[in-house]
Amino acid sequence: MCGIVAAIAQRDVVPILLEGLRRLEYRGYDSAGLAVQQDGALHLCKAVGKVAALTDRTLHEKTAGPIGIAHTRWATHGEVTEANAHPHVSKRVAVVHNGIIENYAPIREELKQQGYVFVSDTDTEVIAHLIDAELGRQDSLMAAVQAAVARFQGAYGLAVTDAENPDELIVARMGSPLVLGLGIGENFAASDVAALVSVTQRVVYLQEGDIARLRRDEISIFDADGAEVQREPHQAAVGDTASKGGYRHYMLKEIFEQPRALAETIQGRISNHHLLPESLGPGAQEVLQRSRGVHIVACGTSYHAGMVARYWIESLVGIPVNVELASEYRYRDVVVPPDTLFITLSQSGETADTLAALRAARQAGYLSTLTICNSPQSSMVRESELAMMTQAGLEIGVASTKAFTTQLAALLLVTAMLAQAAGRLDEALETELVNALQRLPDDIEAALQMDAAIRHLAEDFVDKHHALFL
Ligand code: GLU
Repeated sequence: MCGIVAAIAQRDVVPILLEGLRRLEYRGYDSAGLAVQQDGALHLCKAVGKVAALTDRTLHEKTAGPIGIAHTRWATHGEVTEANAHPHVSKRVAVVHNGIIENYAPIREELKQQGYVFVSDTDTEVIAHLIDAELGRQDSLMAAVQAAVARFQGAYGLAVTDAENPDELIVARMGSPLVLGLGIGENFAASDVAALVSVTQRVVYLQEGDIARLRRDEISIFDADGAEVQREPHQAAVGDTASKGGYRHYMLKEIFEQPRALAETIQGRISNHHLLPESLGPGAQEVLQRSRGVHIVACGTSYHAGMVARYWIESLVGIPVNVELASEYRYRDVVVPPDTLFITLSQSGETADTLAALRAARQAGYLSTLTICNSPQSSMVRESELAMMTQAGLEIGVASTKAFTTQLAALLLVTAMLAQAAGRLDEALETELVNALQRLPDDIEAALQMDAAIRHLAEDFVDKHHALFL
């Protein structure tokens, strides 16, 4: 899932959209595009490859306008081509989309029968045509988007602009994150707060099923049932911004951030050489005491953290642990043994398969659900009964470093809390574990001090093609 940026202002928004896309580049993407309203018409600009190529095109074509939507695509349906890049257009409507519309095929057939012509292979194009079709039946753009999204299965973050509605933008989310940015006489939306911090730090996180209407001086949010709702504005945290802070690349910076990230993750979970199980949330103590087994469900790096934790929990707590990929778990009819604790891990708290697994788990009869997550405003944290935040901050490097090590620290804390609740952690062992956790930031700092020596050793290996680790 890639990037969305949208803006409505009195000034030209193209530089804002492009800057937002640049700030989302770290997520990876294959093509980029934007649409702005220019003199009552939609002006579209797309490019395969980098945002820089899109920027050149907008300069060449003198693209400008006070309202627009932009996207970086990571193809799921259809090749990486300009035709498949977003925005997708249907007459007066342009749409950008993150995610997957699972039931796009029958909707596409139905729209073809109504005379719509498809010019891309994406699932996204049905969104544009369906909204256009609904505009003929509904009395506002908002109502047309509401009617269209009601038919979608799958995951979406959307931004929609309509040439006949020059004073508003509509955005919607389900299974894919979206945040609104509040300005003065201008408003913004993006799939990630990092895209907005250059224009505003006042943000509102949309919740699952929310649809929002952005005007220049007003924002209205409606929940999945169509009721107008108020969502609290937040101050975007400084850690949400992307900067290399003097390091040669993000991954190096993130490796060196581990002592701080771990210290902050452990903080508030232990005091005076003792564990604080209440820090998991109200009722945690009872859940820990009743747990007779654990299911850990996650994806990618988080899954691997779960595999480490299985060894710890089985040996220290003496209860059975299953670790499973969320993409498998969500499609099984899971049989849940009594008094089993469900644990999910996710850096973003929005990982589509893990979120779907958590929702399935909530219906499946678990003792409780616990999410270990790096993003406090995320869907998974909101939808779990218990939560433990890791304090890694934004991780941009694709190979995980501080996000993984803070997950391990959180899992070791949970393991120790489970062991204590099961009566298997005597005072000496508790002190030993807690002291080891408290020492961890210093130990990592000492390891990082070996940087120059490691660099020297690396020179012996730089030309080698194979390595065997014993
Ligand atoms: N499914 C859409 C496509 O393939 C959106 C992919 C994305 O999230 O970038 O075009």
